[in-house]
Parts: sequence; C-alpha cells; structure tokens
Amino acid sequence: MPTVPTSTTVTRFAPSPTGLLHLGHARSALVAWRRARDAGGRFLLRLEDIDPGRCRPDYAAAIAEDLAWLGLRWDGAVRVQSRHLAEYRAALDGLAARGLLYPCFCTRADILREVEGAASAPHGPDGAPLYPGTCRALPAGERARRVAAGDRHALRLHMARARAAAPGLLFYEEEGKGAVPCRPERFGDAVLARKDAPASYHLCVTHDDAAQGVTVVTRGADLRPATELHRLLQALMYWPAPRYAHHALLLDAAGRRLSKRDGAMSLRALRERGATPAQVQAMAEGDQA
Ligand code: GLU
Repeated sequence: MPTVPTSTTVTRFAPSPTGLLHLGHARSALVAWRRARDAGGRFLLRLEDIDPGRCRPDYAAAIAEDLAWLGLRWDGAVRVQSRHLAEYRAALDGLAARGLLYPCFCTRADILREVEGAASAPHGPDGAPLYPGTCRALPAGERARRVAAGDRHALRLHMARARAAAPGLLFYEEEGKGAVPCRPERFGDAVLARKDAPASYHLCVTHDDAAQGVTVVTRGADLRPATELHRLLQALMYWPAPRYAHHALLLDAAGRRLSKRDGAMSLRALRERGATPAQVQAMAEGDQA
C-alpha cells in the first residue's frame, strides 16, 4: 500500500454520503480543517461510500457543495472509497492468508437466536450482542464447500488469533490525554467485509488513514470505542498509528446527539433559511466542552 511519508499535520473529514450534512458534521469538518490550517498542514476530504445500499451520488455532490459554502477548502483530490475496492480486497486477502479471517454465513436472526439461548450473552461497545462464534467452528471442508457454492457470507476477524498475532498491550494516543489502553476484544470477531458491502468501515477507515498519511484523526467521541479496534488492525497490518483527537458531539436542545434524521438541522436547510456560513460555523463550533 502506498503510504505517504509526511512530517506535516494531515487531517481529514470522512463523511458517508447517506444523507445531507448536518451541524454535527460541520463540527467534525471544522475541527479537522482548523487543526490542519493552524499547523500549516493538509486537510483532506474522503467519502466513505462503500455501503451501496445506503450511499447516494447526489449526497456525495451535496457534501462537496455544502463544505465549499461553509468556506472549507480541502487539499488534493477527494478520495472516494468505492473507487479503491481492490486495495481493501488486498488487505483482506493478506489477513486471510495469515488465518486471521473466516467466512461467516449467519444472518442477524441466526445470531440473535443463538444468543437468546445463552444465559448471559456478552455485548459489544455498540450494545449489540457479541458474535457467538458459530462459523468460527465450521469444519474446513464445509466452509470451503459453502464458499464455492456461492453462499453469501461476511468475513470476520478471528479475534483470538489476531490478538496472538499482535500480542501485548496496545495503546492509542489521544491528544491532551496521552496513551489510552485498547481492548479490541470487546468487539469480538468483528466483521471486516460485510455480506452486502465489500469491506467494513473499520477496515477501510484504518486502511485509508494510513494510505493518505493522516497524522491526526479528528472525529466525534461516539467513535472513541472503535479506535480500540482500529489500533489492532493497524498493528496487524503494520500501518502507522495516527494520533487521535475525539471531539464532543453536538447535542440538540433535549441533549440528544444530532442525526441525519434531524433534517431541519441540515446545512442545506439552515442556508435556505438565510443563515450565513459564519453563523453556521458558530453554531457548529459552540459549546465544545
Ligand atoms: N464515515 C464515518 C461517519 O460518517 C466517519 C469515520 C471517521 O471519521 O472515522 O460516521
């Protein structure tokens, strides 16, 4: 993988084009942009559009337009993940060749059924039950037969083997806090390629941060737990570890995090109601304690 050697600060904003940008995205974009600008570094834009069922080209176009309206200029070409599938495939093949991945044929319903039967099923950081490991135990012959027959499957990380391949304590560096210990085991056998998408967020985001030479990952605090898994993938793939600066999420009046469902808070809607870029910047950046 081509890694861009750099001594300057490189940040990125990496939205998924699944809806219009809202104020929460504007906060993320502004944090990354200011961080790069203040350091005389580079600010990159990446479209994380590997989920064909949820991403739309018109949203991708809207992202570029809304950022430009807000006054944010990015450096270089936009990286569009769906144009780099061969790179993610190569990373997956490398992990598979080391015995660190296995195909999983389970449906969501299969997993729930299995987990319901267990007395106290452990849950991951996202609140979903951990994968009980059903397909990890499939005999090699059956696995090969089902793959050859074209049975739809995800690819899961064999967490126990992955931890053995990257042994010892893992940390990521959080700006202002120092080294944060990682427990990627909390994710269980995480999905790295989905049935309906050629690679998962976790794989693509770590691959691309390395490929693009990102030195500081700025993103919402909701992604903080995922960083523990990302650090493991970096260690397994010998990718450099960037620093992290997770920022507070923007909350609505009721204290809930903003989401794409809150159409009224889209940058588009605010602009149509007459808000200026400076006003939207102030709304997005206010109250970051
Ligand atoms: N694509 C992710 C999202 O829109 C953000 C990924 C990241 O910043 O690491 O939530």
